[in-house]
Amino acid sequence: MPKCKWTVDGQFSTASAYRAYFLGQEAILGAKCLSKTRAPGKCKFFAWLALHDKCWTAARRKRHHLQDDDFCALCGSESESIDHLLVGCSFTRQVWHQLLLRENAASLTPTTQDLALAAWWTRGRKLIHKKSRKPFDSTVVLVSWAIWLERNARTFNRQHRTVAQMVDHILKEAPAWVHARYKTIFSISQQQSAAPSNVGHELVPL
Ligand SMILES: [Zn+2]
Repeated sequence: MPKCKWTVDGQFSTASAYRAYFLGQEAILGAKCLSKTRAPGKCKFFAWLALHDKCWTAARRKRHHLQDDDFCALCGSESESIDHLLVGCSFTRQVWHQLLLRENAASLTPTTQDLALAAWWTRGRKLIHKKSRKPFDSTVVLVSWAIWLERNARTFNRQHRTVAQMVDHILKEAPAWVHARYKTIFSISQQQSAAPSNVGHELVPL
């Protein structure tokens, strides 16, 4: 097996593949933001593919003549592009709404006007306190990854989670991310509830 030329020891790793993908690439909206985001390598790599529209969604498969229809696995009614799955889909917007509502930041929820992950993400992070931006970035990757896995579970295993089950699932995943030192917006609220003297919610839009 040929040695991987992107790591010192010649071994393949998700991180090395991720870095390799960045070489020679023009910066696109959201890429700089993603490069600084703290998240597990496989999730960041997925987000990189999403920003570059390289995920094998139903719309992409249809474009490549691999299937006849391109209905979204989550809502069943619109074309399943990656931007639709991650921000445009009514299912995804409900999940984000429920999550952000808990953080008193429901106004950051993607709206019907938000059609692209990069545009919504980069705009949204400017609307919150600077200290909350990195946790917000990690949360965008966490939620996007969870949505993608849900899409795959529906597409390949016929397993469905409801909006409430997705919210529950993501909130259960978040502590593992924090444990791995990937702070999410949910850890901010956990810290605040543990320290009631800490007035003011960091995620409240500016
Ligand atoms: Zn949809």
